[in-house]
Amino acid sequence: MTAASPIIQGWCPGALRPMASGDGLVVRVRPRGGRLTSEQAAKIAQLAAVHGNGLIDLSSRANVQLRGVTESSHATLIDGLRTLGLIDASAEAEGRRNIVVTPFWHDGDGTQNLAAELTAALAAPDAPQLPGKFGFVLDTASAPVLRDVSADIWLETGPNGLLLCAQGAAFGKPVTPETAVAEAIALAHWFMNQGGVTAGRGRMAALLKRVALPPEHTEPRAAALPQPVVGPVSAGSLVAFEFGQMRAETLAALAKSGPLRVTPWRMLLVEGALPHIPGLITDATDPLLRVIACTGAPGCVQALQPTRALARALAPYVPQGAVLHVSGCAKGCAHPTPVQTLTATAQGFDLIHHGTAAAAPDTIGLSAETLLTLFSNRDA
Ligand code: SF4
Repeated sequence: MTAASPIIQGWCPGALRPMASGDGLVVRVRPRGGRLTSEQAAKIAQLAAVHGNGLIDLSSRANVQLRGVTESSHATLIDGLRTLGLIDASAEAEGRRNIVVTPFWHDGDGTQNLAAELTAALAAPDAPQLPGKFGFVLDTASAPVLRDVSADIWLETGPNGLLLCAQGAAFGKPVTPETAVAEAIALAHWFMNQGGVTAGRGRMAALLKRVALPPEHTEPRAAALPQPVVGPVSAGSLVAFEFGQMRAETLAALAKSGPLRVTPWRMLLVEGALPHIPGLITDATDPLLRVIACTGAPGCVQALQPTRALARALAPYVPQGAVLHVSGCAKGCAHPTPVQTLTATAQGFDLIHHGTAAAAPDTIGLSAETLLTLFSNRDA
């Protein structure tokens, strides 16, 4: 395998359909409504420690992933998750339940109702048979904040009410809380009927390069807010973790504070008082927030180099406001959009000044030592 030829699975791991990785099975749990109750979070922490290797990732689709699960412990783990209401009727139903919910919802704004209604619609027998990575966003708090999520259909707050929008479109279709979910499902059917799926794969953005949206998509979308930083917010506190990963003990301790909202920024929104425990990033200037790194070697079987030790070492040299992505291969799982990137190859790392992990490199074959020297002398 070369850096230019990672295996693209075309589907995301689930709980019922885990993905094999270098450290065992990755079991992805999709919180309903983007929120874990205290009981769910505490039990997930316990299950991760007993049936996995105790490491828990936050995904860019606002899910939690248990790592290091074995084939023999998977069934018992699923039984435990089922008692928490986190397991779908089938792997297909689970695969369709790709819904990212704004963590900034508040009681009475209708977001949780939409989440429950959309969840039910996607589990219905007549639900569109959408491809594995197709997803929905409910960005229906006071202002949109989830524009950069990898998804296909949005229900979001517009200048004059709810809007139904397609990925990347500048205009949406006005809908009401009563019609929103039916309209979102209708747009998913439209995607299927227009030939959006080829060989089981397809995304809305690719279809819209060939086909115009229905004519009702005429209302301009509201400007989206920038990605929030760690710290207090109206619904609680946003807290981050090194590389979006925590230990089971950390999740167990957070669960004692109250419900947790899972965000696509690899942060949790803790609804209750933030406990003083190790492993939390609560300072928005922490250099670790400026580096992104996938699992890398040896945790991922596709990785060509370890990633996180290098990212940790380079973090102090990444300027405030900048982002460095260290990717174990050209697939770039941890960050799909262009930033300064180091992509692992069999010879070291390729440096891409601004691009995704698969972009053409500006410099090739750099060792970790060379990169440390390069970064530490940048402003000298
Ligand atoms: S980008 Fe990282 S996590 Fe994704 S396949 Fe490559 S090495 Fe694995």
